[in-house]
Amino acid sequence: MPSFLRFSLTILLLLGADFIGIAPRSTAALQAPANAAQSDAPPPTATPIAIATPAAPTDPRALYEALNNLRPDGARVYTVKDLTIRRDVVSFTFTKGKLAFLEPLGGRITGAVFSGRGHVIATPHERGERRSLAQFIGVPILDQPFSDAYISFSDGADAELQRQLAQDGVQPVSDPEFIAHWDPLAAGLAPTHSARTMVDWLAAEPIPHFYILLQTDAVGPVEISIDYRREEQVNIGQPHLTDGVRSYDMWASFRAEDSPPTYAEAFLPLDYRVDSTIAEDLSLQGKTTLHLRAGRSGERVVAVELSRHLAVDKIEDENNQPLPYFQNEELSRRDAARRGNDFILAVLPAGKPAGADFHLQISYHGSVIADAGNGAYFVGERGAWYAHIGGEHFTSYDLTFHWPKRLTLVATGIESEAREDAESKSGRWRSETPFPTAGFNLSQYQMASTSGQPKIQVYANKELEEAIMARLQPGGPNTLPPPSMLDHYKDTDHLSGAADPPPAPSPTSALKQLGASVQDSIHFFENVNGAFPFDHLDVAQIPGSFGQGWPGLVYLSTLAFLPPETQERAGLDEWAQSGARDLMPYHEVAHQWWGNVTGAASYRDVWIQEAMANYLALWYADSKKPGQHRLANWLEHYRAELTDKIPGTDHSIEDVGPLVLGPRLSSLKVPDAYGLLIYGKGTWVMHMLREMLRDPGASNGKDPDARFRELLRSILAEHRFRPLSTADFQHAVEQHMTPAMDLEGTHRMDWFFDQWVRGTDLPRYTVKFEVKPRGNAFVVTGKLEQLGTENVFTAAVPLYAVRLAAKPERLGVVVTTGAVTRFQFESRIRPTRIVIDPNLTLLWNKG
Ligand SMILES: [Zn+2]
Repeated sequence: MPSFLRFSLTILLLLGADFIGIAPRSTAALQAPANAAQSDAPPPTATPIAIATPAAPTDPRALYEALNNLRPDGARVYTVKDLTIRRDVVSFTFTKGKLAFLEPLGGRITGAVFSGRGHVIATPHERGERRSLAQFIGVPILDQPFSDAYISFSDGADAELQRQLAQDGVQPVSDPEFIAHWDPLAAGLAPTHSARTMVDWLAAEPIPHFYILLQTDAVGPVEISIDYRREEQVNIGQPHLTDGVRSYDMWASFRAEDSPPTYAEAFLPLDYRVDSTIAEDLSLQGKTTLHLRAGRSGERVVAVELSRHLAVDKIEDENNQPLPYFQNEELSRRDAARRGNDFILAVLPAGKPAGADFHLQISYHGSVIADAGNGAYFVGERGAWYAHIGGEHFTSYDLTFHWPKRLTLVATGIESEAREDAESKSGRWRSETPFPTAGFNLSQYQMASTSGQPKIQVYANKELEEAIMARLQPGGPNTLPPPSMLDHYKDTDHLSGAADPPPAPSPTSALKQLGASVQDSIHFFENVNGAFPFDHLDVAQIPGSFGQGWPGLVYLSTLAFLPPETQERAGLDEWAQSGARDLMPYHEVAHQWWGNVTGAASYRDVWIQEAMANYLALWYADSKKPGQHRLANWLEHYRAELTDKIPGTDHSIEDVGPLVLGPRLSSLKVPDAYGLLIYGKGTWVMHMLREMLRDPGASNGKDPDARFRELLRSILAEHRFRPLSTADFQHAVEQHMTPAMDLEGTHRMDWFFDQWVRGTDLPRYTVKFEVKPRGNAFVVTGKLEQLGTENVFTAAVPLYAVRLAAKPERLGVVVTTGAVTRFQFESRIRPTRIVIDPNLTLLWNKG
């Protein structure tokens, strides 16, 4: 599951600071792809009274510190009444209270603070975003009184406020009490915002932003930011700190009305060279050389993703000149590991012209590999173990590793230059095609390889990791490895009090069989997707309960290496067992195409890669044992999960939000919504597409799924080593749609994507009918009732006639148009009953 990780990080980075009472988060809102430069010269200070301001330092660190030290100007506190400011669809009214600007620096004012009574109203135009707001606060509009506000900006908001103050003839006064309230808060919040301000001040063409943190009366702290360095400029959300763990609920995120039609990322990666040395104690010392291209002219701050567990030692340019950098500045090492972020900012000596390419060398050290016991190791920080530009970029990689001799290391790419001396081994891996990411795994592995093409090498540990061993002991704990899509563990105590447990099997006993079935699945997937895209495939065991598909490398949970009896003893229920056995290995193999040949264009498109990988895995598993109905069973399982009520609420998971919200689906309230929806509903969406494209009448050896395969191949060919958006995907479906899929007569699939991908309705159906004989046959007339959806919801619902115990006979399809759709069919049998969609072609709520 590579994409989720990458996009969840992007999401986190979109976020601003925490509020009052919560310690500040580190750098924030400057990572996401930025738009074309909005050439707004730094606003002139419209201060009515001339004030002397210190010059802004030119040295980046001194500038950052100077910005951090700015405090509300205690000598100039304004008593305000009905001040208003509007940004995009958000308006703020400072009804009554006190306001002070931050002290100016270099003639510019960068923020303000307010206490008193205020009111915010935000009215997103997009239906999906209004719906998302309602999911969090009960209503589709943010309409809240607030008491405190912290504002940070580079868009001239100070001039706008000062003009109103001047018009009202308000004179500032000294107010020590107000300042005593705000000084510590402003000090805590400054570092996050200083970084964002610094990026603009150092750029040749600043891109303005406006950020406000509100203490609302009813819904707690709310962050609103309008930042033209992001692709979705307007964000409304809420930070949480629960048991020391940070999370963020993004209530709404959308493009500003005046957002430019195209945007350019500040810096794009051309290739990466990564040299990593893993010591005996598993600590990592690394150096990444990033070859970058400037996407916009005059930008000096490069935001680079790197695990918070890796401390930067130095950053140099191509002439080995050291560059200033910022990494979790305000946090201690220990705090950075707990609640820092995974980004560093490197500052170039001068802006580059757009299109210019250059190198950065980043050296770091730290610990990203954990010992899971019994010779098994866990490579954490998957994807952030080297320094790279965030987002989805297909680039080339040149990886070198040095590691302890007792361990085996596998990595993405083709290996060369393998060497070994008395203590250590080393090797070099180069990408044979552009990769979206690079990874490695290491342990005390045994390996088995397959003959045939492509070459598969499966790596497993001799012994089970401690967490699973412990579960196999009598009375063992029910604590578990890290959570994943496969967390369906039984909360059972059936292990306790058992007699001597049978010996634990070695994961290596599954090597041969797993290699053979992975290769078999590749042949199946090649028949759907086209040729296997990489030179070979390494499959490496990883502790825990998750899998991950890298280019040419698959991480597979230990659970997938265990025989069913051991899975059972480890406390896996039947779905978790089937997930580990029938689903996970093939889900990760399918990611070789879906995720590594094409990737998600943004967090809104992650669902395509995950849903397709999952669906193809089930299709493969189903094809191996048709009599076991694995696909149908999983579809029914997902249907039940989607329609079950969330405990303590009146809602089902399906109601939480549409697939296009991606990682935003998971929130403090429903933490596992992402997994349940992306895998469950996403799998159904792919299944419905396949069913609609199917030609059941195909005969003479013709493939009934030819259209679906052609769809998948065309997408992979057209988006080879490029990102794929939901709009691209819809367009491709439209190129392959049949007349029967054209429910709206527009030759478009808007109805399908609006309902199933961008919407959340899940219909329920009931049918009423009567039968009249006509000649040798019967006329069946009736009405199909569609509930639980909006009236515009449309679906093609197949109805089947059943007489006693005979096999159902297809009557026909009813295309629903609203709450009640009438139908008339002719039937050879006199039905006693009508069955709706017995062959699982449509996701609907049977409950
Ligand atoms: Zn996945």
